[in-house]
Amino acid sequence: MTGVDEQREQIANRLGEPDRLQFPDGWTMSSSWRRAQAAPSTVGPVNPAEFDVLLGREDDGLARHRVLFAVYEGDLVAECDCDGYRFRGWCAHIALLWWRWSRDDLGVTDLDTGRTHLSPPWWLTVDDVEHDRVEAETSQPVAADGGVDR
Ligand SMILES: [Zn+2]
Repeated sequence: MTGVDEQREQIANRLGEPDRLQFPDGWTMSSSWRRAQAAPSTVGPVNPAEFDVLLGREDDGLARHRVLFAVYEGDLVAECDCDGYRFRGWCAHIALLWWRWSRDDLGVTDLDTGRTHLSPPWWLTVDDVEHDRVEAETSQPVAADGGVDR
């Protein structure tokens, strides 16, 4: 059993589905997003599904958080153990991983295929990435039918 299979099984066996990455309203204006781009940071993979993220604040050094960030059943799942994520479902650590990934600066594992994606694949749909709120409200999102080429 490879590490990828192990991680996939762990996610499959746990209670409840992992959270899909969702961007909050106005996320590009959020302090998490600004901090992700500006603060000193270090990202290290722990296993195929998780990263250790160290992200600085102005005053107190680096804080480390464990972040789940992987493709699972065709969706990007993202969870963080920090308070910001617990209360808001969005935090600077996940913002940082997304920022790096969208700049081809992170390898994200597809737990279903074992492939590593060095940037978000074209078929990945993440809510609200490229549409602002007005567009999102007027257009009907296309439902994934699961017929994704692999
Ligand atoms: Zn976090």
